[in-house]
Amino acid sequence: MIDFHCHLDLYQNALTLLPIVASRNLFTLVVTTSPRAWQATSQVFNGYKNIEIAVGLHPEIVGKKAGERELLLSCISKAKYVGEIGLDGSYRYKETIAMQESIMSDVLIECERGGGKILSIHSRNAAGRVLDLVEKHCQNSTAVLHWFSGTITEARRAKALGCWFSVGPAMLRGAKGRALLQELPKDRILPETDGPFATNHSTPLMPWEAITIADALADSWKTSKENVIFQLKQNLSTLIDGNSI
Ligand SMILES: [Zn+2]
Repeated sequence: MIDFHCHLDLYQNALTLLPIVASRNLFTLVVTTSPRAWQATSQVFNGYKNIEIAVGLHPEIVGKKAGERELLLSCISKAKYVGEIGLDGSYRYKETIAMQESIMSDVLIECERGGGKILSIHSRNAAGRVLDLVEKHCQNSTAVLHWFSGTITEARRAKALGCWFSVGPAMLRGAKGRALLQELPKDRILPETDGPFATNHSTPLMPWEAITIADALADSWKTSKENVIFQLKQNLSTLIDGNSI
């Protein structure tokens, strides 16, 4: 129904999937891992009103793609959505963390200069640092924290800062993700897959499978699946159109 964070351009059969995703989903946000990928994907995926392409620079590849920093900043004024951006504080990316922070700051400042964007943000092992940057730089932009895996305290801080959350089946598979879900505001949650990286029994999750989180949400919110789906559609409308259905 809605997939607010997927890498549709990175599926093996992306072009075959494209029209299927467009017809099965109400809305899909395709995040890209570099501005060059955004340029290419925007051309190839052109023509589907309910598929939006976000320009980004994935923190895991900042070391390899640092040369695309200026290109990224110059593309922001042309994009409504920015992602995947963010920080990854995992051990294997520790050498690039200063560069990641510097790029993310510049991106957030550029987004403000453009009147504010909708951002899909990676924050693995770096939730506190990401929230520091969001707090400092995001006045007009809306930060959507994808696959949030911080602490309960960090989730509360993110909520207080006005962040949104995109939540997927992979996040809710573990007890930690389900405990975090209890802290997240119902009116600021959207489904995501993070496919093809996120999988179900080694098979990439498909963009139309994001909505399988509805059962876990219904349990957590103690309501019906129908109410959950209504709420998620309303959330999408609030975020992308600035009004309720
Ligand atoms: Zn991703």
